[in-house]
Formats: sequence, C-alpha cells, structure tokens
Amino acid sequence: MNQYIIETKNLTKKYGEQISVDCLNLHVPKGKIYGLLGRNGAGKTTTMKMLLNLVKPTSGDIILFGEDFRKTDSKTYYRIGSIVETPCFYENLTAEENLKILARLRGQHRKDTVEHALSVVDLGSKSDKAFKDYSLGMKQRLGIAAAIMHEPELLILDEPINGLDPIGILEIRNYLRNLCQENRTTILISSHLLSEIEQMADIIGVMQEGRLIEEIDMDRLHMQNRKYMEFEVSDVNAAAHVLERNFKLSDYTVAGRHLLRIFGSPDSRSEINKTFVENGITVSNITVCEEKLEDYFKNMIGGVGVE
Ligand code: ATP
Repeated sequence: MNQYIIETKNLTKKYGEQISVDCLNLHVPKGKIYGLLGRNGAGKTTTMKMLLNLVKPTSGDIILFGEDFRKTDSKTYYRIGSIVETPCFYENLTAEENLKILARLRGQHRKDTVEHALSVVDLGSKSDKAFKDYSLGMKQRLGIAAAIMHEPELLILDEPINGLDPIGILEIRNYLRNLCQENRTTILISSHLLSEIEQMADIIGVMQEGRLIEEIDMDRLHMQNRKYMEFEVSDVNAAAHVLERNFKLSDYTVAGRHLLRIFGSPDSRSEINKTFVENGITVSNITVCEEKLEDYFKNMIGGVGVE
C-alpha cells in the first residue's frame, strides 16, 4: 500500500468568486520528490499555504503524515520545513545570527545545526555579511538553509531555485536529491523551470486554473514520451517527400529550416539516411531524442507562459 505523506481530497480555496484551488486531489508518497507545475496563478502557492496551515481551506480535506489536518497539532509542523514566497530574515543580522535565532525558537537542534545548514547551501564563508547586503541568490540559499536546518521529514518548497545561478541550482538540486535518497525526506517543490523539475522529480502534478489536470510518475512519463530522430538536411521539403514516398511515413514534423523530426523507432535511421543521400539530400547530422517534459507540458496546457 502506498504511504502518502501528503494527501488532499477535493481541497478547495475560494476568495470571493475567485476559485484559486479547485477540488485538488494530491498524492505525495513518502521519500519522493513531487514537482508541482503550473503557470502563474495556477494555484500552487495557495495549495502550499493550505498545507502549511497559513491559509484556511474553503472545503475539502488535507491528510498530513496520515492524519487529518484538523486533528494535527503544532508538533506536526515541526516535522515540516518550508519556503513559501520570500523568506523573511532580520535585515541587519548575518546568516549565522539569523539561523541561530530560528534554531533557538524551534527548540531541538544539534550543536552544529547552523554551521551544517550554512555549509550545505555554501554560505558559510560569507557569514559576516548582513542579510540586507545579500544578493537574491544568497537570500534564497539562506531560505533553504532555514527550511532544512531542523532536518524535517517533509520539505515544502515554493519556487526555491528562483534567483540562483546555474551552479547554485545544480548544487541545491543535488542536495535535495541526496536528502531524498539518504534520509527518505519527502519533498514537494514547485517551479516554473520545467527542466529543473524534469531532472529532479519522481512524480509531477500539473495544475491549471486551480485544478490538478495530471499526476504522473516520471518513469511512466518517460515510457509515454515519444522517441524521435532529428535529421539535419539540406532540403526539408525534398526530405519530407522522400519520407512519404519511400517510407510511407507521415508522423514527422518540420522543426526548423533544415530540421526534420521523425517519430517512431530510431532503428530505421541508417536506411532513411541512405535514401536521403541517394535522392541528393545532404544529411549533416542525425540525433535520437525523446520528447521533453516541456513538450508534454506544452501539449497539455498550451505552453504559454512557461520558460
Ligand atoms: P505564481 O506562480 O504566480 O505564484 P501560483 O500558481 O502560485 O502562481 P497562486 O498564487 O496560488 O498561484 O494564485 C492562484 C489564484 O488565486 C490567482 O488567481 C491569485 O490571484 C489568487 N489569489 C491568491 N491569493 C489570493 C488572495 N489572498 N486574495 C485573492 N485572490 C488570491
């Protein structure tokens, strides 16, 4: 039986006439990274706020660690680390000073908790700088350090990699993956950076206008994603003609002035290549690819507004 750390049943949030979250049924299994995807305004932040008891649901249920959220007490929230919207810190204090205050407030912590959390996000050496002088990326890192400091069983992270540079993104991604693999930490993460979610998540949920329109395992998605061959040719029209005439192929698209994308088994690529050449078409490159999450996401919700 699946053990869900987060489960919602018909979770709904209305602000007046506005339905921000509409009958949401999320299933976040233990020890997995769940990527919540959706365009701006899809309802991701509102969902996370309801899970964290920061916003009261209009109707529906939340089950956290197997317990109805109405029965959970404040101790449940000690088991969770989160970043929702911009994390707040004391402007004039350093990272270390800020985290020490948080550690004291939260009670239980190891002696090296603050030091460890700062080293994980690589902020240790900059600890003499006041928070107000931090770059956006450094502020994000400190937010992550604060969220992971008490070694929570569940992390809820709303767009945690916003503002990080590519190396920072890579480091945080690897760290989150390790947390999940080594400590079986469960992570719910939202991002509009589809490529990041693709490389990190075990499961994705896609939200649109408050509704969850898809919840799928990445493994299943990879199986479902279509494979294709991409041919770089001198003349796409002539190449398309050859495909239809010689191979009776119609499942292809013109992906650029010299690019032809042919769906189906890549086994036929040498035969296709040979026939192109015999018909006077120069082939300068052939690649075998798989549709990316971005293609899947675009197909599903129209693709506007995603990077
Ligand atoms: P983004 O990626 O832009 O943060 P999101 O998917 O997190 O988007 P939400 O912030 O949850 O989306 O917003 C969902 C909808 O609910 C939006 O239409 C938003 O305007 C609306 N909304 C959110 N909070 C409130 C509020 N306090 N009062 C009224 N409407 C709100």
